Amino acid sequence: MYEVAIIGAGPAGASAALFTAKAGKKTIVFDSDKGMTKRAWFENFYGIMEISGPELVETGIKQFQKFGAQYKEDTIVSIEKTDGGAVVTTANGDTIEAKHLIIASGIHTDLAEQLSIATKAGTEPRIKTILDVDAQGKTNVEGIWAAGTCTGVSVHAIITAGDGAKVAINVISELNGERYVDHDMMKA
Ligand SMILES: Cc1cc2nc3c(=O)[nH]c(=O)nc-3n(C[C@H](O)[C@H](O)[C@H](O)COP(=O)(O)OP(=O)(O)OC[C@H]3O[C@@H](n4cnc5c(N)ncnc54)[C@H](O)[C@@H]3O)c2cc1C
Repeated sequence: MYEVAIIGAGPAGASAALFTAKAGKKTIVFDSDKGMTKRAWFENFYGIMEISGPELVETGIKQFQKFGAQYKEDTIVSIEKTDGGAVVTTANGDTIEAKHLIIASGIHTDLAEQLSIATKAGTEPRIKTILDVDAQGKTNVEGIWAAGTCTGVSVHAIITAGDGAKVAINVISELNGERYVDHDMMKA
């Protein structure tokens, strides 16, 4: 049983995993390697002069792995709601259960629609359908959250990464029963 499972290791999902893993939450991330970020070249990501999409994605995965999150390159083919959270099944036949599930699947919303998670029309260019989430990132299904492009935020990596972090902080706060802040002091 994981505390957090995340679908997608693009900026939204990887950033969410970085926060949940660093907070000590047992986290697993799945990715089908069908993201848009690997096709991009970035010169508008605050703090980084320029970086290729593949390098940004690879660094994101290493960052959350450093804090103990597990990573599996596999496609989630179904999500099932359970009393304790949600069960996801992969194309390779693995099944895992998590208390909280964060969907960070980019332009892909088919899984959410399969589980009757509420969707609506997207407003960003080329984004047709998005998951209908509240300000915290919660879907209409208890324990299932969503972040990044699939929720209709502006399609820019710094924004989708920030949205993943925001949702993760809300998940951690709910698990802890109090608001969570992750601040490190400058090393001497
Ligand atoms: C050509 C191009 C150029 C761009 N240039 C810029 C730029 O210069 N600056 C900028 O800020 N933004 C740019 N962007 C946009 C930027 O890439 C996105 O805004 C942002 O990175 C999207 O992040 P995300 O995590 O929401 O989605 P993604 O990066 O698409 O990640 C979603 C992940 O979910 C995974 N996934 C989906 N369904 C499943 C499933 N069922 N099971 C397992 N995994 C699944 C996918 O494999 C994918 O890796 C560009 C995009 C493109 C296509």
